[in-house]
Amino acid sequence: MISRIDLRGTALPEGGDLRDLLPRAEFDVEAAVETVRPICEDVRHRGSAAVIDWGEKFDGVRLGSIRVPADAITGALETLDPAVRAALEESIRRARLVHREQRRTTHTTQVVPGGTVTEKWVPVERVGLYVPGGRSVYPSSVVMNVVPAQEAGVEGIAVASPPQKEFGGLPHPTILAACALLGVGEVYAAGGSQAVAMFAYGTEDCLPVNLVTGPGNIYVAAAKRLLKGRVGIDAEAGPTEIAILADATADPVHVAADLISQAEHDPMAAAVLVTDSEELAAATEAELKPQVAATRHVTDRIEPALAGRQSAIVLVDSLEDGLKVVDAYGAEHLEIQTENAAAVADRVRNAGAVFVGPWSPVSLGDYCAGSNHVLPTGGCACHSSGLSVQSFLRGIHIVDYTRDALAEVTHHVVTLAEAEDLPAHGAALKARFGWKVPQA
Ligand code: NAD
Repeated sequence: MISRIDLRGTALPEGGDLRDLLPRAEFDVEAAVETVRPICEDVRHRGSAAVIDWGEKFDGVRLGSIRVPADAITGALETLDPAVRAALEESIRRARLVHREQRRTTHTTQVVPGGTVTEKWVPVERVGLYVPGGRSVYPSSVVMNVVPAQEAGVEGIAVASPPQKEFGGLPHPTILAACALLGVGEVYAAGGSQAVAMFAYGTEDCLPVNLVTGPGNIYVAAAKRLLKGRVGIDAEAGPTEIAILADATADPVHVAADLISQAEHDPMAAAVLVTDSEELAAATEAELKPQVAATRHVTDRIEPALAGRQSAIVLVDSLEDGLKVVDAYGAEHLEIQTENAAAVADRVRNAGAVFVGPWSPVSLGDYCAGSNHVLPTGGCACHSSGLSVQSFLRGIHIVDYTRDALAEVTHHVVTLAEAEDLPAHGAALKARFGWKVPQA
């Protein structure tokens, strides 16, 4: 069901060479860019009519309008199962607690007497938040997109999610209800690359946005890559990944359940166990079979995800080597199920989010830990962070120098400008002092 990669008995190679030994999904965004290019161009030229046509082709339902009426949003909340409502409210409450603390404050540095640089944090004006809705629907992703945007102070928040045939072309009612709980009234029934293009170019129904965030499938990622620059993006999130660094103290029942929990997303999802324990590897393999058989989405997602080249049990000689492996892998989600898990977690350098010990499974983070679940995939955790308040802010430097403070540093500016063969830069300062360099 899941293959093994045995790295025992040899010195681990460094960096990229080690990465090459590890499992990873084939996720050819570049090829998908060619698929979505005509869709994005069509939306650019024909606007909402193109969004409707592509929605009919891919989602199997023809819309009268892409904008979801206000009463459909409030109505979805009224008919929401009370238990789901309570769970969403708790998810929102916890996410707010964490994200509120991520707010940045304006800070002024006195560089010299009379010379200050202030860093002012300004929210992005208008954002488009993508909530996936192909294979599964993700009201949790509404929470994870909207809460940081709201806590950052973004004023214009629009949500898009694919139209659902069984709900008359509206996005799934749980997604609409989550929008209502969060006070978001601008929602579009649009999925995939046509939704990203709608946000980037705008249509007669939807004003263009400055930034598109949120997870999605390969077509969403490809549209983000294609339209990046025209619009800001958070990341090209790929299929979900879980890596578990575990030793002999880990419970194979938990390990197997957690691997399956992320394989459930997508046939391309990755589930990777890194362990120095042959016993744990064997017990996990044995545990996977009955647990997979007992769950849903077996043949369409979990079995192909676990059997795919992106998933494996990686055997290493020691926990030290295990740490090197998980750092090289840079998982979206990394669980540490070892002795002294907190100390081991503290040594991890590359991961989207780290889940410490037996009582912090990834599923907790998917819904109700308070952390964000929109995280870097495909190894991008070595240079990128997950979605946060920071994703929706821009830091603007405000430079304010007096005459004396400028005079004091002019000779350095002129020297550097000459060194770069840009004398007009120096002249811009000399012009203020009678075309002379003031004496320091
Ligand atoms: P989705 O909403 O991302 O994609 C559905 C859309 O894809 C459709 O509306 C359609 O427009 C488009 N599409 C389908 N086939 C197409 C084709 N052949 N050509 C062009 N466009 C096409 O939903 P999904 O497919 O279920 O994918 C969701 C993804 O998001 C999964 O991979 C899941 O793992 C991931 N996810 C990640 C996170 C995270 O935080 N990282 C959270 C939730 C979901």
